[in-house]
Amino acid sequence: MRIDIITIFPEMLEGFFNCSILSRAQKKGLAEFHIHNLRDYAYDHYRKVDDYPFGGFAGMVMKIEPVDRCISALKEERTYDEVIFTSPDGEQFNQPMANELSLKENLIILCGHFKGIDWRIREHLITKEISIGDYVLTGGELAAAAISDAVVRVIPGVISDEQSALSDSFQDNLLAAPVYTRPAEYKGWRVPDILLSGHEAKIKEWELQQSMERTMRLRPDLLKEQP
Ligand code: SAH
Repeated sequence: MRIDIITIFPEMLEGFFNCSILSRAQKKGLAEFHIHNLRDYAYDHYRKVDDYPFGGFAGMVMKIEPVDRCISALKEERTYDEVIFTSPDGEQFNQPMANELSLKENLIILCGHFKGIDWRIREHLITKEISIGDYVLTGGELAAAAISDAVVRVIPGVISDEQSALSDSFQDNLLAAPVYTRPAEYKGWRVPDILLSGHEAKIKEWELQQSMERTMRLRPDLLKEQP
């Protein structure tokens, strides 16, 4: 899978994609991330990507021409499954959406800034709008990073133990069970005996029961949704 991210702060994202699992996914050839500086597509000498809003409203608005030039240049090279805009009023991002996007070949993610982007970009160039939560960030970079991370980690082979992505919270609409590692006892705080028993079937049963109990207590809304 290939993800192209359009941003005015490439340096915010470069470090993120060069670390940990996302960098391993690239080395394994399972994912490619390309970060594009929107200013490179500006028309003028000052590399201006924002302007005053019509109507005299407060704040600045991201201009349409650089965004259109950048998206058009990418589309000339390949076909994209979705052109995503990160926006607080978009569809709420969740695990089923991450799973679905992980099956795509090529994605563009546009990071907004300022008061927002010229509405015509949303009407004519964007195919999907995603919010990462009911709060307002200063820019779309954190949202683009969160979306890319959640999408890429469910691609088979990205996480070495595939089972481990499938048993994460929200897959099957269940929160994950607690996990522990050595030492078995620390300051008198003990790991549940069942996990040390070596009894595989009973451990699986414990894991499911813990997941159910935690979901019922913390997120009963998930149990009402169909996976
Ligand atoms: N005026 C806009 C908010 C602009 S915030 C409004 O009221 O809806 C600037 C940019 O940050 C947005 O264009 C968007 O790209 C990004 N952003 C902010 N909050 C976000 C969120 N919760 N999810 C995804 N992107 C977000």
